[in-house]
Amino acid sequence: MTRRPWRESEDAYICEQAGYEPLSSIAAHLRRTKGAVRKRACELRKTGALGTSLRYYEPKTRECPECHELRSQFYRNGTCKVCNLERLVRSHKDTAFELWRTLEPDYQSRTLSGSPHSDADHEEVLSFVKGEQPKRPSVCGMTDYMARKTLDGYYVAFEAWKIGVLERQIIALKGREHRWRKHQKKQ
Ligand SMILES: [Zn+2]
Repeated sequence: MTRRPWRESEDAYICEQAGYEPLSSIAAHLRRTKGAVRKRACELRKTGALGTSLRYYEPKTRECPECHELRSQFYRNGTCKVCNLERLVRSHKDTAFELWRTLEPDYQSRTLSGSPHSDADHEEVLSFVKGEQPKRPSVCGMTDYMARKTLDGYYVAFEAWKIGVLERQIIALKGREHRWRKHQKKQ
């Protein structure tokens, strides 16, 4: 096998993509063997040009086009589950508002929150959710690989927590809607 000298553009590619693209893919792009890229990365590290390893972490999350948060659960409409659940919450609140307006004033004032758009129910819901909101971990001192893995794990955990809160909120909103409809029939 003849050894092609390394071009500056190839070194730059390795430095840019290291850790963000699998080694096999970097090698294919440069039309080099994986061994050759590994060896070159080692040389670049020695000179200080490359400050990270080639170890690639495949993220479980990607950016949602609507909320721009990193999420792992998506619906077929292309947006994340959180965005879809939030839309559902808004629609339930709108329904509640329409319903609330038809109730007699006396009953209106006796409803838990006094207004269908109050967050009183939301707080009631939050108390049902097991576990606290996950905190963003510090990645200080971690390798790039570990930092990426740790943050990705955090985004997945945060998303799961958020979904739990929204699902509880929807159950509570449906329950309230049901109570109001029952009362509406009695009026
Ligand atoms: Zn989203």
